[in-house]
Amino acid sequence: MSKGQVIIVGAGVLGLSCAVQLSRSGHSITVIARDLPGDSHIDYASPWAGAHFRPSPAKTPAEQLEQQLMRDTYSELEVLAKEHPESGVKIIPAIEYFDSADAKSFLAKENGYIDWPDFRILKSEEYPAHHDSIRLGVTYRSWVLNSPVYLQWCRKQAEEQGVQFVRENVASMDEAVSVFQEKIQESEKSDIRALINATGRGFNDPDSFPSRGQFIIVSNQCDKTISHHWADGSSTVIIPRPLGGGTVIGGTKEPNNWSEDISDAATETILKRVAGICPELIDRESPAPDNTHGFNIRQVYIARRPMRRGGLRLEMDKTNESIPLIHCYGAGASGFKISWGVARQVELLVAKTELLVNKPLEA
Ligand SMILES: Cc1cc2nc3c(=O)[nH]c(=O)nc-3n(C[C@H](O)[C@H](O)[C@H](O)COP(=O)(O)OP(=O)(O)OC[C@H]3O[C@@H](n4cnc5c(N)ncnc54)[C@H](O)[C@@H]3O)c2cc1C
Repeated sequence: MSKGQVIIVGAGVLGLSCAVQLSRSGHSITVIARDLPGDSHIDYASPWAGAHFRPSPAKTPAEQLEQQLMRDTYSELEVLAKEHPESGVKIIPAIEYFDSADAKSFLAKENGYIDWPDFRILKSEEYPAHHDSIRLGVTYRSWVLNSPVYLQWCRKQAEEQGVQFVRENVASMDEAVSVFQEKIQESEKSDIRALINATGRGFNDPDSFPSRGQFIIVSNQCDKTISHHWADGSSTVIIPRPLGGGTVIGGTKEPNNWSEDISDAATETILKRVAGICPELIDRESPAPDNTHGFNIRQVYIARRPMRRGGLRLEMDKTNESIPLIHCYGAGASGFKISWGVARQVELLVAKTELLVNKPLEA
C-alpha cells in the first residue's frame, strides 16, 4: 500500500534524488517541473555541473550537518559506481592545491577533512612544476559523474518505481497542486501527504540569488579530478566526465551576474591556468587549434548556481496549513555532493507529516 501521495516540484538533482528515495520507500510520487532531464536551460543548474566531490571543512554546526549530508551521498554514489557504472558515476583520485591555507586548522581532526578515504598530504615534489605559490597539496578518493547521463539515469530509476513526470512551469506550490489535480488525479487536498519545493532558487525568496559560472568542456582526457585554490579566492577545477563526456574545466563564480554572454577573457584564463596545473592533459599526438593552449574545445558555457543567503533551505514550512510543505532548495555549488543526504532528510520530514495527516478530527 502506498504511504501517500507526494508532489515534488523540480527535476534537478535534488528533486530527482527525493523522487527516487521516496518512491523506494513506498510513496506515490509526481514530479512537476519546467525542465526535465535532457533539457538545457541556463537556470537548470544540474546538467551543467562538473560534477565532482570535494570536501569542505566542518567547523560550525551548519557545516557539520552539510558534511554529514556529503558522507551519506558519498556512500550512495560509491555503491552506484560499483553496481551501476551506466549511471555515469565513477570513483577516481582527487588532488587539491591551496595557495593560502592555514594547514594546521584546516587539517584539524574535528574538521573531518582527513577522514575522507585515502586522504594524504602531498609532498612538494608532487606539486606541478613552476607553481611556487602552492602552500598545501592533498589527495583523497573522490567521485565524479557525468551529470546529463546521471540525471537521465535517476529519472529512469524513478519511473521504474512508478514516479510520474509532468512538464509545467508553475508560479507557486499551490499551482502545482492544481496541475496535479488536473493532469494526474482528481483528489482532495487532504489526500496529498506532502509537497516538496525543489525548485533550485525557490519562489520569490529574497535570499535566493544566482552565481554565474563560465566553464568549458574539452575532449582532452584526465584520470583524476584536480582543484587549485588561488590566493585571490578563485578556484580552477578539472573534472573528468565518465562515459565519453570529456573533461569539464573552469571556472568562474560571479554572484548576481545575470549576463548570458560568454567572456573571451575568462575562457583564455581558464585554458591557461588548466594547462599550467595539468600539462599532461595536453595531447601532443592530436594537435589542437593554435589559440586553445592545446585543448580540443567541445563547448564553452554559462550556467547559474542556485545560491541562498543562509545556505540550503531544508525544512518544513510551518506557515503552509492545508498541505505539509517541505523546502529543499538553495544548494549553491554543492547540490550533487549533498543530494542523497538531502533526500534522506526529506524522507524523515515526510515521515513526520504522518502525524498531521492521520490526526483524528476534533470532536
Ligand atoms: C558549472 C557548475 C558546476 C557545478 N559543479 C558542481 C560539483 O562539482 N559538485 C556539486 O555538488 N555541485 C556542483 N554544482 C552545483 C549543482 O549543479 C547545483 O547545486 C545543483 O544542480 C542544484 O540542483 P537543484 O535540483 O536544487 O536545482 P536545479 O538543477 O536548478 O533544478 C531546479 C528544478 O526546478 C525546476 N523549476 C524551477 N522553477 C520552477 C517553476 N516555477 N515551475 C516548475 N519547475 C520549476 C527546474 O525546471 C528544474 O527542474 C555546479 C553547478 C554549476 C552551474
